[in-house]
Amino acid sequence: MQDIRWNTFFIFLLISFLSLIIWGFKSLEVASFFFISCLIVYLLLHVYWIYRLNKWLKSPNLSTIPNGSGVWEEIFSTLYQEYRKQKRSKSELTSILGRFMTAAEAIPDGIIALNQNNEIEWCNKPSERMLSINPAKDLNQPINYLLRETRFTEYLNDNKDGATLKLISWRNTGKSFEILLVPFGINQKLLICRDITQLEKNDFIRRDFIANVSHELKTPLTVIIGFLETLSDMKNEFNEKTRTYLKMMVEQSDRMKKLVDDLLQLSSIEFNTLPAEKKEIDINQFFKNLKKDADLVSKKTCKLNLSINKNVILLGYEKEIYSAFLNLITNAIRYSKKNGMVNIVWDTKDHQPYFEVQDYGIGIDEDLIPRLTERFYRIDANRSRNSGGTGLGLSIVKHVCIRHQAQMEITSQIGKGSQFKILFPRDRLALKKNVKE
Ligand code: ADP
Repeated sequence: MQDIRWNTFFIFLLISFLSLIIWGFKSLEVASFFFISCLIVYLLLHVYWIYRLNKWLKSPNLSTIPNGSGVWEEIFSTLYQEYRKQKRSKSELTSILGRFMTAAEAIPDGIIALNQNNEIEWCNKPSERMLSINPAKDLNQPINYLLRETRFTEYLNDNKDGATLKLISWRNTGKSFEILLVPFGINQKLLICRDITQLEKNDFIRRDFIANVSHELKTPLTVIIGFLETLSDMKNEFNEKTRTYLKMMVEQSDRMKKLVDDLLQLSSIEFNTLPAEKKEIDINQFFKNLKKDADLVSKKTCKLNLSINKNVILLGYEKEIYSAFLNLITNAIRYSKKNGMVNIVWDTKDHQPYFEVQDYGIGIDEDLIPRLTERFYRIDANRSRNSGGTGLGLSIVKHVCIRHQAQMEITSQIGKGSQFKILFPRDRLALKKNVKE
C-alpha cells in the first residue's frame, strides 16, 4: 500500500514538475492544458484497469488475470498470489474432506450427524441401508419422524452418557441394531448404528443351549434324587461309611438341582425381552410368604426386621419379583455373621417404590461391586458353595430388574455389611390410601 501511495504521489509530482517547466518555456495556459490532459489520461488509465478488474472478478481464473501496469501491476500480482494460495488451500481441504468421506463410507457402522433439533445433517451409506434413510428426501428431517418408535424417541430425548438402545428384529426385517448417541460440537449428536444381528443370534443360541441342557438334566436328576431319598429312608440298613457317602450324594444332588432350577429360571427371564406385566401384587400376602421363606433360610441364625408399607402396591410379575427379593434376603442372611441382623424395607421415595435389604455381614470390596451380577461370579467361591449358593442369584435379580425397568443399587463396606436396593419406576406404583412417604 505504501508503494502504491508513493507511486501515485511521484507521478503527480512528475506531471506538476513538467507543467512548471512548460509554464517557464511557454505560457500558463499551455502548462495548465498539459497538466489537466495528463490527469485525465491518468484517470482513464485507472478506469480501464478497474473495468478489467471488475470483469475478471466476475469469472476469476488464474490464467486470465490481467498483468496491469504501474500500480495496477502490483495490485494484480498480489491478487494472483492470494487467489493461488486460496485455491491451493481449497483443494487441500477438498481432498481432506474427500478422504474423510471415503473413510466414513468405509466404516461398516451407520453414522448419522444430527443438529440440535435432531434433524439429519449428514449420513453415510451403511446408515441408509440399515435404517432405510434416503438422503435425497430425508436430509433436514427430524430423525424421530423416520424412526417412529416410542423407545427410540425416549432414548433420543433422555439420552444418558454411554447408554445404548437395542432395536431387536427392527421392523420385522430380522435385523437387530444397537444405537449409540454421542454428543459433539454445539448441541449436535452423532448417531452410531451397529448391526448386532449375528451377536444376537449367537446369544440366542447360547441361551437356548443352556436352557435345553438344564431342561434335559432336570428329569434324570429328579429320578436320582428320588432314589436317593428312598435310600435315605433305609439308611439304618447301611453301615456308617455308606451312610456318609449317601449323605454327601444327597447334598450334591440337591446342589445340582438348585443349579439347574436357577439356570432354568434365568433362561426364562432372559428369553423374555418384553417388559414385565403390570399386575397388582398383594403386598400383605407377598411379604408374609417372603418372611416365611426367609425364616426357613435363616433357621433363626439371623434376626429379620421388616418395615413394610402395605399401602405401596407394586405393579409387576409377582413370581419374578418374589424370586429377586428372596435372593437378596437369602444373600443377606448367608453373608451375615452368626446372630446377625438383616433389615428389610418396602416403601416409596419420590413416588418410586423401593425394596431395600441391609445386612451387617462380611461386606464387599467396592471395586468388585460392578462384577457381582455376572453369571457365576463369586468373591469367595467356597463360602458361596458351602452356604448353598449357585453364583446365579444376583444375575437373576439383575434380569428381573431389567424386565421391570428397575435399578439395583449396591453399597457395601468390607467388614461392615451391604445394602442392596431395587428402585422401581413411578409407573409401577399403584397407590392405596394413606401412603407413608
Ligand atoms: P451366590 O449364590 O454365590 O451367593 P449371587 O449371585 O447371589 O451368588 O452373589 C454373587 C456373589 O456376590 C456372592 O458369591 C458373594 O460373594 C457376593 N454377595 C452377594 N450378596 C452379598 C452380601 N449380602 N454380602 C456380601 N457378599 C455378597
